[in-house]
Amino acid sequence: MTIPPANRIVVIGNGMAGHRLLSELVARGQHEGLTAIGAEPHAAYNRILLSSVLAGDKSTADVALAGQAWYASCGIELLTGDAVAKIDRAARTVATASGRVVPYDRLVLATGSRPIRLGLPGIDLAGVTAFRDIADVERMCGTPAGARAVVIGGGLLGLEAAAGLQRRGIGVVVVHLAGELMERQLDVPAAALLADAVSTRGIDVRLGAQTKEIVGRDGRVVAVRLADGSELPADLVVLAVGVTPETALAREAGLECGRGIKVDDALCTSDPAISALGECVEHRGQTFGLVGPIWEQAKVLADVLAGRGARYAGTAPVTSLKVSGIDLFSAGVVREGEGAETLVLADPVTPVYRKFVLRDGRLEGALLYGDVEDAGWYAELIAGAQDVGTLRDALAFGRAHAQPMAQAAE
Ligand SMILES: Cc1cc2nc3c(=O)[nH]c(=O)nc-3n(C[C@H](O)[C@H](O)[C@H](O)COP(=O)(O)OP(=O)(O)OC[C@H]3O[C@@H](n4cnc5c(N)ncnc54)[C@H](O)[C@@H]3O)c2cc1C
Repeated sequence: MTIPPANRIVVIGNGMAGHRLLSELVARGQHEGLTAIGAEPHAAYNRILLSSVLAGDKSTADVALAGQAWYASCGIELLTGDAVAKIDRAARTVATASGRVVPYDRLVLATGSRPIRLGLPGIDLAGVTAFRDIADVERMCGTPAGARAVVIGGGLLGLEAAAGLQRRGIGVVVVHLAGELMERQLDVPAAALLADAVSTRGIDVRLGAQTKEIVGRDGRVVAVRLADGSELPADLVVLAVGVTPETALAREAGLECGRGIKVDDALCTSDPAISALGECVEHRGQTFGLVGPIWEQAKVLADVLAGRGARYAGTAPVTSLKVSGIDLFSAGVVREGEGAETLVLADPVTPVYRKFVLRDGRLEGALLYGDVEDAGWYAELIAGAQDVGTLRDALAFGRAHAQPMAQAAE
């Protein structure tokens, strides 16, 4: 189904997906009838760079994606600091928390994700924070050097939080439930290399450790208690245990939701007048946590809204860790299943570790530790699902070696 071009497009959520969609619409000549409504008090900013803000490499001003002037010059009405509280599908209006009512012909939900809050005793104490937005980072940056922090979660976000805090002179312990760091993106050898590199930086990593309680005094956190009874002193606790799609508004409006807001290949929800993109959606059973797929969704949805036929078919996940001095890249399936072939190149001294998972002659996943120079090329091979049979023997050595060998063999 191709949706006819709409007049008034309202985008709820002015994060990375919402902003990218607006840019794509403007690039297609849509300069009228656009409204963006964001709960945060800022115009859109690059959330990915919050790790750099925390590490002290960038300021919050540096990470702005667009100032108010950009919205005005593109004819976009921007409402900030005013969350949408209700969608009235029959009247085709949305109402904000401050009481504003905005009509739409076409509504787009780009409400992102919210951090998972563990149901632990002490979770509401002062000094306990997520790591999702500028307000969280400002809270973390207010922690003085010499203080102690416990980061709960040893995934991408937790490790970036730990590295940033450590750069600020804060003593950091990472508490991770699984036996390996970043177990969703890495295999056992790569996770071990990572744990070594993180520990060498002076970050204390506790694997297989379960948090039981956040201990407070006078309303403030003072420690984290683990299941084995040990206590880790803490002035700051960062929760980095994952995110969940922000579906509350959509559910309340009666839109079909699973883990995320369900969309079809045209990124249309169960209401033909409402689309959705970004981390809030569920597409073909998949939810999203990285911007790569979101950029593709924004292009597709802008085409759809402009009345051009376009379809989103999914994207292979690609992850890079942004901790300076640790080069890590993971794309596609990196833990081989039945019927898959694995190629590994490992130099424990450097250390460099490269692993490739092939199935039916195609590259299904790549994991690079220590040398990520060819990451983009491997990502292309995975996304293109092309036959890599002629590249196979030199695949692990990178593009410069593999391509000439493949050509010579032809
Ligand atoms: C510290 C950090 C580092 C990251 N690093 C990487 C990385 O290296 N690579 C990568 O690919 N991804 C990374 N990510 C993930 C990436 O930032 C997200 O995938 C991306 O921001 C998702 O975009 P989104 O627009 O769907 O959600 P968001 O960017 O979260 O935007 C959603 C917006 O909607 C607003 N909103 C929600 N409900 C309402 C409502 N009812 N009314 C109005 N507004 C509402 C929210 O306040 C928010 O501003 C990182 C994330 C963080 C936090």
